[in-house]
Amino acid sequence: MSIKLICLFFYVEYVYICPFRKLIYLMKFETKVIHAGIESDPSTGAVMTPIYQTSTYEQKSPGNHKGFEYARTHNPTRSALEKNLASLENGKFGVTFSSGMAAMDAIVKLLKSGDEVISINDLYGGSYRLLTKVYAQFGIQSKFVPMDNAKFVSEQISKKTKLVWIETPTNPMLSIVDIKQIVKKVKEVKRNVIICVDNTFASPYLQNPLDLGADLVIHSATKYINGHSDVVLGAVITKKPKLAEKLYFIQNASGAVPGPQDCFLTLRGIKTLHLRVDRACKNAKKIARFLTLHPKVNNVYYPGFKAHPGHKIAKAQMRDFGGMVSFDLTGDSYGDAKKVLSNTKLFTLAESLGGVESLIGHPASMTHASIPIEERHKVGLTDSLIRLSIGIENVDDLIADLENAMTKL
Ligand SMILES: *Cc1c(COP(=O)(O)O)cnc(C)c1O
Repeated sequence: MSIKLICLFFYVEYVYICPFRKLIYLMKFETKVIHAGIESDPSTGAVMTPIYQTSTYEQKSPGNHKGFEYARTHNPTRSALEKNLASLENGKFGVTFSSGMAAMDAIVKLLKSGDEVISINDLYGGSYRLLTKVYAQFGIQSKFVPMDNAKFVSEQISKKTKLVWIETPTNPMLSIVDIKQIVKKVKEVKRNVIICVDNTFASPYLQNPLDLGADLVIHSATKYINGHSDVVLGAVITKKPKLAEKLYFIQNASGAVPGPQDCFLTLRGIKTLHLRVDRACKNAKKIARFLTLHPKVNNVYYPGFKAHPGHKIAKAQMRDFGGMVSFDLTGDSYGDAKKVLSNTKLFTLAESLGGVESLIGHPASMTHASIPIEERHKVGLTDSLIRLSIGIENVDDLIADLENAMTKL
């Protein structure tokens, strides 16, 4: 190569490409999903991040390597995903795990025996189980409280409180928590409490808790982020170097890391996150309206309705109202719900959410079966409550499918 060419190469790299890489972090969401953290492969120029299916890396002499030693600690496919996720949540550090629950497990490991967690009472069943069945036995106690009143939450803070766990919108009642208010009130009482938001239901496209003052945001990337129902993966994102350092330490020390193939699939799914979530939101709006007009439907839970108690907060802290809708039936019979659940042809009866395909579920017998009936009824989780995860199919086909399933009641 001539010296002129070499000079040109460095000129282009430093004048155009380097600033471009930095600019990525100032770009809009739709650009970041495609470009943040992604660089063509240095060895081949491959445009898509390769799947680095390797457990170890060559060292030229002991300790002399290219930044990669062993794949539990570092993997280039995983690093690209972590950088991308950090950027989508307007954070600085992304830490990925083999599942959403492994991500939560790493966060709770920031605590020690004698510390206390204050969690929302209406939370993902697996999160409740991890706190009560795993961590309680190690001396980490959890209090479960409603979070519709920020002052009430801050009054629960004690000397032992180390972590506040928020989920919004909640599952399956789709209640909304005012993240900014909770952060404000909690930090007024105690500055060093870690506030974490489970942002799985909203996705980073609709809501960015770090911008609202949260310290950590967690995702089950299994849901909207990957979006194709073919991966289980979790992530934690933060702006804070000290928390990030501890989480990377736990990631490597405990070892619940995602494999390179799953990181690749998640990166691939992310590229259409905004398109998928936009369509799911649009479809959900129409389906929620259809349900309110249906004679067999009693309540419809959807934060996009003006009458929803969290509507104003949702409007302020979310870009749109999400793709989840819950409803129950007049007469509240489990038998009727069962008929609807078995008669849909497009809505698949299955756990999970956030995929391109629409799913239908029955919280009372599936995700929330372990919660006592009186507790369930208190929050409005009736026997006929049905939860929909709206996909990106044609909305008229989805409505026809529900209509048809309900004519048999
Ligand atoms: C699914 C889910 C989790 C758990 O994630 P996994 O990837 O299944 O381990 C946590 N929180 C919420 C809100 C979820 O929906």
